[in-house]
Amino acid sequence: MVPKERIDAVLAEYDRDDIVIATLTSHSSLQIFHGARKMGFKTIGFTVNHDTRYYDAFPLAKPDELVRLQDFDEIFDRAGEFVDRNVVLIPHGSFVEYMGAKRFQSLEIPVYGNRSVLQWESDRDMERDWITSAGVAMPNIIDDARDIDKPVLIKYHGAKGGRGFFIAKDYPEFKLGIDHTQPYTIQEYVLGTRYYLHFFYSPLSTEGYHAHEGSMELLSIDRRDESNIDEMYKLGAQEELKRHGLFPSFVVTGNVPVVLRESLLPKAFDMAEKIVKRSYELFGGIWGPFCLESIVTDKLDFKVFEISSRIVAGTNPFISGSPYADMIHPGLSTGARLALEIRKAADEDRLGEILT
Ligand code: AMP
Repeated sequence: MVPKERIDAVLAEYDRDDIVIATLTSHSSLQIFHGARKMGFKTIGFTVNHDTRYYDAFPLAKPDELVRLQDFDEIFDRAGEFVDRNVVLIPHGSFVEYMGAKRFQSLEIPVYGNRSVLQWESDRDMERDWITSAGVAMPNIIDDARDIDKPVLIKYHGAKGGRGFFIAKDYPEFKLGIDHTQPYTIQEYVLGTRYYLHFFYSPLSTEGYHAHEGSMELLSIDRRDESNIDEMYKLGAQEELKRHGLFPSFVVTGNVPVVLRESLLPKAFDMAEKIVKRSYELFGGIWGPFCLESIVTDKLDFKVFEISSRIVAGTNPFISGSPYADMIHPGLSTGARLALEIRKAADEDRLGEILT
């Protein structure tokens, strides 16, 4: 990983009045560019073999400049050029995924957020240690498949966006579906309603909801549309469908806005605060946007099945604000909140506290 001192040395040369916000043209980039522009930043969109014509359809979210790269190596080769232009990279799920977490960590261009979190997120055991040792409940793990006596979800380690997960209700079903060539985890299937909570932790601010050494904001909540599981019930029982070769999948195709029953908000903030506090103890912290992917049971308990420590695509329904953001900064998206934080850090000469 690129040493923090190296990034600090780079930042010492940055013109704080001329920062350029850059990201990969995918995922939540429209929102990131739109928010950055709103806060007066210039923007660059990096693209590798990506159709970017759709940006013409959204002029207020089109980056000022598109940099077409042959491949991701080119960002490394041209890092000096981007540093000279005071570029700050905003990571999102696709940027990290396509480039690879290890390479992303070694890039000598300032990145918003703590790059150390990538290790903790990409390893399911480390992520579980982090969440549970923070005192936040997760779905139980079943160590021995022969103990399966209620619905479980088998998660292959490399599986992304729920592709390749499968449900089993007993050991014979597990045996029928399992691919032993891939590492997997067996997780209790939590029956309840899913809420993807989009928080923003600012170590630079002490206003509002004080948490850890800064402030916690809840900017929005979404629920993912997942194909085909969300619509499968229309065709009848899953057992029946399996006989026709139709199996449930959890592939994300879109996002819908939701709000949480108000009496659950204290629990939601408590979880977010614990997760942040523990992250500082374990690896220097998470800050900025992060998402707690959770299920609320009929006992009104949360179980967190995953954390994303950066902007998630579930924030995209809220480009012009949300029921929660509007009670903090009316009309503010997560992308604009990121830009606001960078603006504040630049103005107060604190960029080193939020860029790694
Ligand atoms: P993930 O890749 O971990 O984000 O999970 C993909 C999808 O699988 C989620 O959005 C949920 O719909 C579902 N899911 C994951 N873990 C569980 C669980 N333990 N119980 C029920 N559904 C789950």
